[in-house]
Formats: sequence, C-alpha cells, structure tokens
Amino acid sequence: MAAKSGDTPAPPACLFCGIVAGSVPSTSVLDTETCYAFRDINPAAPVHVLVVPKEHLDSLEAVGSSQAVLLGDLVDAIRAVAAKEGIAETGYRVTTNVGEDAGQLVKHLHFHVIGGRSLRWPPKGSDAGG
Ligand code: AMP
Ligand code: ZN
Repeated sequence: MAAKSGDTPAPPACLFCGIVAGSVPSTSVLDTETCYAFRDINPAAPVHVLVVPKEHLDSLEAVGSSQAVLLGDLVDAIRAVAAKEGIAETGYRVTTNVGEDAGQLVKHLHFHVIGGRSLRWPPKGSDAGG
C-alpha cells in the first residue's frame, strides 16, 4: 500500500511493509482498511497471530494520542482475531515488544495475539511471543 502523506516513511526493506503490500507472502487472518493480521511464521502456541497497522510505525514508541483512531482500530482488530480464532472465551495474551531489551526483531509495530493453550505468568520461554 502506498504511504499516505503524513505517514512515517517505511525504512527500506521493512519486512512487515512487504507483507502488507503483498510482496512478501503471509497467511491472512484479518484485513481491514487500516490493519492487517497474519499468522506468525514461528508460532509459540496453537494460535499466534500478528496484528500490524498498514501504516509503517517503528514500535509503540512511535505512537501517541494523535493516533488514537488507529490505536482503536488495532484493538478492534486484535479482538476480531481472537473471536475468529475461537480464543475470545478461553483467553489470550497480547504482547508488543519495544526495542532491543524486549527482543523486538521486526521494527514495524506489531501485536502478538497468542492463545489456544494455557500461558504462564510471568511469561516463560515463548509465552510472551517474539
Ligand atoms: P518481535 O520479536 O516481537 O519483533 O517478533 C517478530 C515476529 O515476527 C516473530 O515472532 C517471528 O516469528 C515473526 N516473523 C518473522 N518473519 C515472519 C514472516 N515472514 N511471516 C510471519 N511472521 C514472521
Ligand atoms: Zn514497515
């Protein structure tokens, strides 16, 4: 998708911008006007879906109240994914990794939606996603 004026320009070769644009293959779970959800290539649980804004944002650090509508869209998309995957009732975890210490590998804001099994808290191993 072409960036709208005012969007953060995508860094060259952003993997998730490639997925949103369709130039990198993905298994789609949900596609809305502003958000895209697809299966994590290395799932940590029976359900492991990544929800991303179509607009490039590096991480939660790049988001503020001026993106309140987009944040609402992301929350709606997360809940729609949970309903579609049948984990809204059993429960699920939503994680976003920000920066190096959190192990953020892909510098395009994404929310891991993880469920379909019992998850430990505090998270251990793959329980937090990423
Ligand atoms: P993070 O550490 O929060 O940046 O997580 C990045 C996530 O992206 C990891 O869980 C990876 O398994 C996942 N991932 C990397 N490449 C792909 C891809 N091509 N399609 C789907 N998921 C991917
Ligand atoms: Zn991107």
